[in-house]
Amino acid sequence: MSKPTKQEAMEAVKVLLRWAGDNPARFGLQDTPRRVVEAFEEYFQGYKQDPAKELSKNFDDITGYKGPVIIREIPFESHCEHHIAPFIGKVWVAYLPSEKVCGLSKLARVVDIFAKRLQNQEMLTRQIAESIHTNLNAKGVAVAIDAVHHCMTTRGVHKHGASTVTTHFLGEYEKDVELQHQFLNVLNRGIK
Ligand SMILES: [Zn+2]
Repeated sequence: MSKPTKQEAMEAVKVLLRWAGDNPARFGLQDTPRRVVEAFEEYFQGYKQDPAKELSKNFDDITGYKGPVIIREIPFESHCEHHIAPFIGKVWVAYLPSEKVCGLSKLARVVDIFAKRLQNQEMLTRQIAESIHTNLNAKGVAVAIDAVHHCMTTRGVHKHGASTVTTHFLGEYEKDVELQHQFLNVLNRGIK
């Protein structure tokens, strides 16, 4: 699959503007195709980035620490693969380190890399969990996402205020209900 040129992408935006019923030649829209194409570069920059690379820069010394590392409410913005509409929310990540721990900002980077691709919330939840599990060789991983989907608020059923929660557990988190409860308690405190 070859990547189109920027010019081709801008022409496609003009077609969509005509499809919406407007005139791409009118003054206010003349620069819109360029802006939309450049916004796409930002929305979807995750395709050019590799989460494994982020997580390879980890720090080994966990000095006997045995508990989970839980990061609450990492904000993200993504776009749904069905409508290219934004879905926006927060991610909770927990992992049980084995021999490797990573810088906390790296986990937030991993969230961003997967979020900046066309997604659905279930897939995003699973990809973040699997990436941490594999690349940190973690004993267990839990990921939860709470998000509002603009394809549900600004179109379709128009349900403002409805948010969607997804969870994915791997390793020890999949087996151990106590660990799951501990994680979900942290999550419950975060959802307002
Ligand atoms: Zn959608």
